[in-house]
Amino acid sequence: MNRWTDLVHFDPCPGDIYRANSTPIYQTATFAQESMDAFGKYDYSRSGNPTRSVVESHVAKLEHGKYGYVFNSGMAALNTIFGLLKPGDHIIAGDDLYGGTHRLLSERLKPRGVDFTLVDTTNIVEVISAWKRETRLLLIETPSNPLQKITDIEALSHFTKEKGLLFVVDNTLLSSWLQNPLTLGADIVVHSATKHLAGHSDITAGVIILNDEAIAQKIAFIQNAEGSALTPFESWLLIRGLKTLGLRIERQQSVAHKVAQFLKSHECVKKIYYPGLPDHPGHDLHQKQAKGFGSIISFVTDSYEHARSVIEKTELFTISVSFGSLNSLISLPCNMSHASKRGCKESIPQNLIRLSIGIEDADDLIQDLDQALHQDIQKKKIRAVNL
Ligand code: PLP
Repeated sequence: MNRWTDLVHFDPCPGDIYRANSTPIYQTATFAQESMDAFGKYDYSRSGNPTRSVVESHVAKLEHGKYGYVFNSGMAALNTIFGLLKPGDHIIAGDDLYGGTHRLLSERLKPRGVDFTLVDTTNIVEVISAWKRETRLLLIETPSNPLQKITDIEALSHFTKEKGLLFVVDNTLLSSWLQNPLTLGADIVVHSATKHLAGHSDITAGVIILNDEAIAQKIAFIQNAEGSALTPFESWLLIRGLKTLGLRIERQQSVAHKVAQFLKSHECVKKIYYPGLPDHPGHDLHQKQAKGFGSIISFVTDSYEHARSVIEKTELFTISVSFGSLNSLISLPCNMSHASKRGCKESIPQNLIRLSIGIEDADDLIQDLDQALHQDIQKKKIRAVNL
């Protein structure tokens, strides 16, 4: 079926006698059993819940995978994947990872004996040289966030297969609508569903999708053992968000494209990171492996002070961490989403601004950015005239 049809055609309430059109929220912790030793499909909501099952099979379908699992945050999903490893194991990961993932690796996994090496995964030679006998897993984000580096998923999948590594792709930035790493050879796809999948900034959620049955069973085991699954109500909100995924993403990226074109030629913008621009170093590769460029734009201004002032002077962009919501957001990753990477060699430039473009009118957003970018310059001109 076509992916537009797939978005809204699924069984919303398998086995429910009333055949509701919208998935019922099975707001229950427990399910009655026929007898002491006869368990039904569900017995306890930590282990399984019908509302959650609907969203788990839906996210799996949209990502072209067999098994889907939903968690109470993206970090819980990533932590579950790392739970497949044991002390002594080693991870290779991208050097432009989400700050929270970096914190999980450095502050939680490393002290427990799972070491990691960060490399520029756009350079396959660097990835190969980071490999050692203990390496078990490769984790990438493409595009990376916020520097939008593009990594060749298919090329790396040959390497991970040859070495017997688990190849994990964090697909949060583009969502299942624009990129499907399992079809390009990845073993596991993970999302912060807090972002595009849910799409309304109203829940935190995480998703894991994969094809391997044995690993899927381990993931389900950890999810139950650690009690990290998404609640029934939030599963329902995620189902509702997913129905409009395509509409939202297509609109957001068409607005983003216009904003990126504007910023590219703006006198106050020193550098722009957006794979949709033809001179982006990963433009062609990205086009080969994804269906669109997404709605996140990063750019660098003159100085930290200027970046700060731009953020504070915009009127239509909410200053907020995260991305993928219907309204546009603006942030300084160095101080906000990626603050936990400050001081390390992979830290983000202080004067880099990240935009998450919403569904607003492109011209309104452009006008707003223009006035915010110019305010400092105007002040400086007035000061110069007054001297
Ligand atoms: N992965 C990426 C790429 C992210 O941007 C984030 C959060 O910003 C996460 C994972 C973590 O997800 P969550 O905030 O839902 O725990």
